[in-house]
Amino acid sequence: MINYNSAAEVARVLRSRGIVPKKRWGQNFLVSAGVREKLIKLIGPGKEDVVWEIGAGLGALTSMLTGKVRKLFIFEIDPGLIDFLKEAFGSVNRLYITEGDFLKRWQEVREKEGVPDTICGNLPYSSGSAIIVSLIKKNCIPDKMVFTLQREMARRLIAEPGSKSYSSFSLICQFVYKVKHHGDVRSGSFYPVPDVFSSIIEMVPHNRFTQLKEREIFFSLVDDLFASRRKTIRNNIFSGKVARNYGINTLKKALSQSPLNLERRGESLSVDEVVALAQRIGEVNSGG
Ligand code: SAH
Repeated sequence: MINYNSAAEVARVLRSRGIVPKKRWGQNFLVSAGVREKLIKLIGPGKEDVVWEIGAGLGALTSMLTGKVRKLFIFEIDPGLIDFLKEAFGSVNRLYITEGDFLKRWQEVREKEGVPDTICGNLPYSSGSAIIVSLIKKNCIPDKMVFTLQREMARRLIAEPGSKSYSSFSLICQFVYKVKHHGDVRSGSFYPVPDVFSSIIEMVPHNRFTQLKEREIFFSLVDDLFASRRKTIRNNIFSGKVARNYGINTLKKALSQSPLNLERRGESLSVDEVVALAQRIGEVNSGG
């Protein structure tokens, strides 16, 4: 077993297998016992839990989850790391390795095994937000997600409407999750040392909009509202997807029944306001 808390040892293992850490896949391996323990504590693995780990790397987190949960699914894209994981963890009971791009493979695993209880990972910077958005849009909502993320991305997750970091990513995440920030991680906790800061994030569904029929309208509206940050709601919305899909007349009617001031900027809208508007459009569209 590797000493995962030693950057020198992690570097040596990678070198001995001819693996050069790749930026493209956000390969910064955790080499801090403190951070790994903090993550495991937040994940709180339970005997009956099904857990997915995204981007297992050399197994710094995997090794702390094996034997603690009912089933552990790990995902890894790098062929060199996959070979290593197979050797190190291939014979572990109830541990399953999925090879390839998480974004392309996770839906097969859900079809066979259902939505997991927990999803975790030291997420690659390059695709972290795409991964979270893909899970939310396709309605794969576990009871908990625990990640280390690029600090800028973490800021966007918890941003308030109208603030600089508030974006479509904030709205999509806050539509489903209560997001908690559990502190920043020093760059020195990773090998190689990344040139961005990281944060620890916990996401728990708030279950406020699970019954919403207008999910698709909501996501289209979010795209429209942020199409151009400086534009007003009116300008963004009438040149967007919702107008094209539901027609200008439906949109006009829905907006006329809504208390929203259309001269506000799209980026000032809260999740509740966008949900309310999506519901209005849905109702008008189905003859209301
Ligand atoms: N969990 C390990 C590695 C984190 S680095 C640790 O904490 O040390 C991020 C890992 O995600 C790398 O192993 C990288 O190869 C993997 N990865 C990057 N993009 C991926 C993708 N789209 N699908 C699956 N794994 C990915």
